[in-house]
Formats: sequence, C-alpha cells, structure tokens
Amino acid sequence: MQLVRPESAEAAAAALGNGTKALAGGTDLVPLLRDGIVHAETLVQVAPLLPRGIDGSRIGAGATLAELEVDPQIPDALREACRQAASPQLRAMGTIGGNLLQATRCWYWRLQYPCWLHGGDRCHAKAGAHREHAIFGNDRCASAHPSDIAAALLALGATVHTTKRELPIADLYRLPTDDDRNVTALEPNELILELDVPAPEASVYLKAMDRRKWAFPLVGVAAARMGGAVRIALAGVAPIPWTLPSLDALDGATPLPGTAYKLEIARALVKRALAALDSPGH
Ligand SMILES: Cc1cc2nc3c(=O)[nH]c(=O)nc-3n(C[C@H](O)[C@H](O)[C@H](O)COP(=O)(O)OP(=O)(O)OC[C@H]3O[C@@H](n4cnc5c(N)ncnc54)[C@H](O)[C@@H]3O)c2cc1C
Ligand code: SF4
Repeated sequence: MQLVRPESAEAAAAALGNGTKALAGGTDLVPLLRDGIVHAETLVQVAPLLPRGIDGSRIGAGATLAELEVDPQIPDALREACRQAASPQLRAMGTIGGNLLQATRCWYWRLQYPCWLHGGDRCHAKAGAHREHAIFGNDRCASAHPSDIAAALLALGATVHTTKRELPIADLYRLPTDDDRNVTALEPNELILELDVPAPEASVYLKAMDRRKWAFPLVGVAAARMGGAVRIALAGVAPIPWTLPSLDALDGATPLPGTAYKLEIARALVKRALAALDSPGH
C-alpha cells in the first residue's frame, strides 16, 4: 500500500476512487484496513489539505473533535456531541469529516459475516444478537448509525460543502437499498471540505450509553430551536442519522425484539431534550 500527499484538496479528490481512499485522522479507516474489511492500494493523506478552523458558521472538515468540544463559537448540541464521543485520544485525532463517514459498528459486518450490507442476502443481526441495533429504517439492514456528531448537525440543519457541491446534511445520508447499499450519497472521488452550521436559538445533545464515558450512543438525541421551530434528530437508532418529526413519531418505530428498550430510552431523552430547550439557561 502506498501513501500519497497531494498539494491541494482538489488534487486529492481527483486521486480518489479505484482502490484509493482518503486518510484523515485514520481512527476508523486504519483499523478497517488492518482487519481487511476495507481494501485500498493507495491512501491519500487529506488531513493537512482540509480546512481546519472555525470561521463564523463554517467549520473545516479537518477540525478534530477535540478542537470543537472546547470551542464556544459552535452550538451547544454540536459541542456536547463532540465532547461525549469516543475517548480523548480518539477525539484528538478524529476529524469531523471522518466522523460523518465512519463505517457501521455492527459486529457481524466488522467480523466480515457475508451479511446484506456486505452484499449478501440477509441481515445476520436481525436473526442473531442485535441489542445495539436499530429501531427505525431497519427493513434491510438493522445497523445503528454511530455518529453523535451527525445527529447534532442534522438537528442544526447543517450544510455540507464538498469538492463538487453543497448539500444539506440530511441528503448526505440515505437508507441502503438492494440496488445501492451505501449509506452516504458521497461519490468515491468527492471530499468533504467544510460544514456550514447555522446558529440556533437553543440546542442540546443528550446521549445514553452502556458506560458513562467513551462508548457509542445506544440512543443520542439532538434538539435545536431555530426561528421558533424545533428540530429533533437521533443517533444510534437507524442505519443513518434519523430525523424525528415529533415526539409522537416514535410511535412509528419498528424495533426488533432486542432493541425495544431503545424506544423507551428515546422517549425519555426526547422529552428531556425538549424540556431543556425551554429551560431558562436556553
Ligand atoms: C473506539 C472508538 C470509539 C468511538 N466512539 C465514538 C462515539 O461515541 N461517537 C461518535 O460519534 N464517534 C465515535 N467514534 C468515531 C470517531 O469519532 C471517528 O473514528 C473519527 O471521528 C473519524 O475521523 P478520522 O479523521 O479519524 O477519519 P478516518 O478514519 O481517517 O476516515 C474515516 C472515513 O472517512 C473518509 N474521510 C475522512 N475524511 C474525509 C473527508 N474530508 N471527505 C471525504 N471522506 C473522508 C475516509 O476515507 C474513511 O472512509 C469512535 C471511534 C472509535 C475507534
Ligand atoms: S445490521 Fe446491517 S451490517 Fe449488521 S448484519 Fe445486518 S445487514 Fe449486516
């Protein structure tokens, strides 16, 4: 495997695809390469080429979670989602761009079972162990999207700027189908450069996990109030970050036998998040 260091983000994007992958902090990609789950002949080092700082509502895709968790300029929900993600060491290396594109944590997928998401014909988790899996959008694949940050950005109505286009974060993700099993709409030779995150009147991120620290979300709830309207988004409940139109929309969940408990957690956290938006501190 070779590592290349192009001069610009545009040159890096042009080099991607056909066995070439972007390497940012490497916290997700390197273990996947090591374990033979992802294959690449060439890695393109993108971290030094990506915008990194925070400029008003703009956040560089190369900003690390550790930089964001302490920055008073960014909305509370996003700062809290960064603060509660992973471990300090991982947050020091992991970028926000890489976080949005991290692979599923489904253990069947990571253990290379020939499951539906790997191109097979069935979901092993549904028939097997699935306590950390989805309660929405789990028709084909029942994996639970692991990004706290993506849920926060979804509630905040962020826009993604890439080397090719601008798209609302809601359009970055899509449920996988039989014809296209990718969960993001990003093209193989497209790099995320920046995020535009509008300032809310108030925002909050709450997270339930197996341990009090350094664990993926069992359920993460982001809520933001903008122009008087409240938007809610969930992590850890569907193969993609999930927009929840209202508390009542939880009634439309399709939990598996082992994930029904997540519905109760989600109900409690959504109520708590909505109450927090209305509290005097907000
Ligand atoms: C043990 C562990 C615990 C974790 N816990 C949490 C958690 O609780 N909550 C949470 O939200 N996350 C969690 N994470 C995920 C972690 O935050 C991500 O691994 C990290 O943010 C990824 O960023 P990176 O820069 O290291 O990405 P990389 O590993 O370098 O890249 C990840 C993917 O994104 C692609 N990529 C990277 N940057 C770009 C870009 N700018 N444009 C296009 N493609 C790009 C890469 O090609 C690769 O496919 C955890 C990770 C680990 C290993
Ligand atoms: S949940 Fe998705 S990734 Fe996991 S076994 Fe089922 S199809 Fe594969």
